[in-house]
Amino acid sequence: MSDISTEKYVEEAKRGIANTVLQKALVGLQDRFGRGTAEAYRRLPEGPDLRLKAHEIREKAIAHLDVLLEILAAKIRASGGYVYFAETAQAAVDYCLAVARRNNVRLVVKGKSMVSEEIGLNPALEAAGIEVVETDLGEYIIQLAGETPSHIIAPAIHKNRQDIADLFVQKLGIRRTTDPPALTQAARKALREKFLAADMGTSGVNMACAETGHITTVSNEGNIRMATTMPRVHVALMGMERIVARLDEYEIILRLLCRGAAAQTMGTYASYIGGPRRPGESDGPDEFHLVVIDNGRRRILADPQFREMLCCIRCAACLNVCPVYGKIGGHSYGFAYSGPVGAVVTPLLTGINRAKDLCCGETLCGACKDACSMNIDLPRMLLALREKLAYGDADWQVEPASRAEGLAYRGWSWLIRNRRIYELGLKLAAAGQQLLPQKKGMLRRLPPPVQGWTQSRDLHPLAEETFMERWRRTRKG
Ligand code: SF4
Repeated sequence: MSDISTEKYVEEAKRGIANTVLQKALVGLQDRFGRGTAEAYRRLPEGPDLRLKAHEIREKAIAHLDVLLEILAAKIRASGGYVYFAETAQAAVDYCLAVARRNNVRLVVKGKSMVSEEIGLNPALEAAGIEVVETDLGEYIIQLAGETPSHIIAPAIHKNRQDIADLFVQKLGIRRTTDPPALTQAARKALREKFLAADMGTSGVNMACAETGHITTVSNEGNIRMATTMPRVHVALMGMERIVARLDEYEIILRLLCRGAAAQTMGTYASYIGGPRRPGESDGPDEFHLVVIDNGRRRILADPQFREMLCCIRCAACLNVCPVYGKIGGHSYGFAYSGPVGAVVTPLLTGINRAKDLCCGETLCGACKDACSMNIDLPRMLLALREKLAYGDADWQVEPASRAEGLAYRGWSWLIRNRRIYELGLKLAAAGQQLLPQKKGMLRRLPPPVQGWTQSRDLHPLAEETFMERWRRTRKG
């Protein structure tokens, strides 16, 4: 598993909010992709309701996951490929290392893969003395900077042209320029040499199809096609849920993936891979391996409350509309997945208590569900996670997050069911608030333990006449 720093959510969120470069980038991102995606759904011949159909397709696939994965594995093996089912992140990493060692691999070129971030593949390969080069431009930039992705699709969104220019001067030794095509050319030149020298390529899997026995990768830069065809060995890493049964269903998911990810009708390159190069073919690897990764997904599958999360195709549309992600950025989430998808899936994969701030930090505004290419009800699952945090849950080994909060709510529940005491309490509070600092009729500061409420805003004081008093008075009148 990669490094997990979900405990630093609040600290990192504050840092993100104070970062002016990030703030500008996030506004631009949400403006462009957030609105663009909604428009792209509207322009679909079937209209935005195609998302409902996609949801059905994904739910059906998740319900038959065992059968579909076996069919896929059998077809890939019949085509000369290897399939490995990895129960844990460590098992997946160990398998990749074993393949690399067996093939005397010195250099790996990587296509973008979030599941490789999840399992921490790069550090493991590097620790084994293998050079790893990210070939997606955004991933390459953050690899040079020694950072992690801050967005599923646009990993270097937190960097501006000036940052990238400085980085390329320092790491690639080029003359300083902030011209995007010139910077892209510099990266292209450096990467081309790596593609030619690499012994092994790795990629993620956008979706697999059981009927045809293929996996698909979609990209806009063509780098994945090179990483998967030029080296002698190709290892594809796939979350075990990324499969559909039939090709006609596959087509619907891919169309929505491209619209959700980048408001595109279709990505520039879509590669369909079902095994190693066949006799007579000019391109492709000698060895093809598919690593199907569980790493906590079976546990999600077993829970009817969260199974829907496995419908996710990591398109990132929910990030592009989320008001929380739009302020704090991706690094705050402390794991591979950020935004609303991260707020649900990270607690499920890494521990609900450990990642409690992620699901409590979202607003429940519902924008993520409206934007989701698979129409996943993320707000429902955020609430389910919060419920587990409030009451604890033995199955997920969740401790109630705050006993004091639990007690406070139980006290509140008792109070509002005892009208006389409640009204007396209101009277006392209304009298007591006279002692608090006020300005222009607003309370400036509440005392501990509720001082947080007035940390960044003023509060209306309690009315002199309560609603019940007014009700009684006007009814009499
Ligand atoms: S939850 Fe929906 S919008 Fe978000 S990444 Fe997954 S499929 Fe895309």
